[in-house]
Amino acid sequence: MNRRSFLKAASVAGLAATPTSAVLGYSPQHDVQKVAPWSKNQVDQQSPEHILLNDYRPKSIYKIPVTEIARARYPIIDMHSHPYAKTPQQIAEWVHTMDEVGVEKTVILTSSVGTEFDATYRQYSKYPERFEMWCGFEYAGYDRPGFGAAAVRELERCHQAGARGVGELHDKGQGMASGKSKTRGLHPDDTRMDPLFEKCGELSMPVSIHVADPIWMYQKMDKTNDGLMNAYHWRLDNQPNIVGLSGMIDLLERAVQKHPQTTFVACHFANLDYDLARLGQLFDRNPNLYADISARYAETAPIPRFASQFYAQHSDRLLYGTDMGFDQPMYRITFRILESLDEHFYETEQFDYHWSLNGFGLPDLILQRVYHENAAKILAARG
Ligand SMILES: [Zn+2]
Repeated sequence: MNRRSFLKAASVAGLAATPTSAVLGYSPQHDVQKVAPWSKNQVDQQSPEHILLNDYRPKSIYKIPVTEIARARYPIIDMHSHPYAKTPQQIAEWVHTMDEVGVEKTVILTSSVGTEFDATYRQYSKYPERFEMWCGFEYAGYDRPGFGAAAVRELERCHQAGARGVGELHDKGQGMASGKSKTRGLHPDDTRMDPLFEKCGELSMPVSIHVADPIWMYQKMDKTNDGLMNAYHWRLDNQPNIVGLSGMIDLLERAVQKHPQTTFVACHFANLDYDLARLGQLFDRNPNLYADISARYAETAPIPRFASQFYAQHSDRLLYGTDMGFDQPMYRITFRILESLDEHFYETEQFDYHWSLNGFGLPDLILQRVYHENAAKILAARG
């Protein structure tokens, strides 16, 4: 499932906020309430006066190279995916796609524990070389005294049952969550998390953790919001009591510093795709911190020169990841962005922004590290 169809499904399921369509008409005196419903007034929606940003689908006019990359230049370890395939047939299709596009191994972040983890593990167990399964944390009783021992026991049990790492853990400012197990106000640097993160270090289980969300989700949902198309679906600006993005980065760093024997993978550039320099400082201070680049291709492709410099500076800490289903076109757009020097191309099927994208043209050495070497090092360190 790509992000667009995921958003549609989420909307149907009532998970996402109301779609933005009506909000973005930009004629100055335009009052959406008065004009709607469109059909009654027979407003010509094709008229440039009424094209919504949400519907804007420009085509690039430049006669410049278009690079189609069917297969990644080097073998890949995908450090951020989920159990998208639900049937043996779908799993077999996924393996076939991985063969075609050049993905050697996919890390499945199940975020689950107990029988749910065990069932997912079994589903994928036919391909032990191609998929590895990571579990979640059990937070039950987190708000009662004595929390910790049982959660650590469940972690050990999952490890015994085949979990090779932990993830994806989430904290978007409200508190830690892992699949269905949720908390309020329990953040990564909380002392109650210590036994769990320590045990991950002991068991050599890397921890994949998603903190905060892209900056646009926190900003005003108005005409100045650069990422409005996506931001509105995942908005956080209407949740005043959560820890903000900057605060979440501080919390994450405190957790990473408290547990130097534990390897942390911050998902999605730690949501610092808009401020990569800050992520670079985190890397400089914390040798046990990595970041995956999953689901932030469209957010970094607008700044190809700065982004490729960042890749060059921190090529030993960045990990390839997808987090966007398992369609071939999804993999291929990530290769185009990482490998090609294509400019000003649109990819609205995979991503939800109105802006155009550019390739980074990463050199071989950097591609090898990001696609494979860094991940292989983390996975091999477990013995
Ligand atoms: Zn994910």
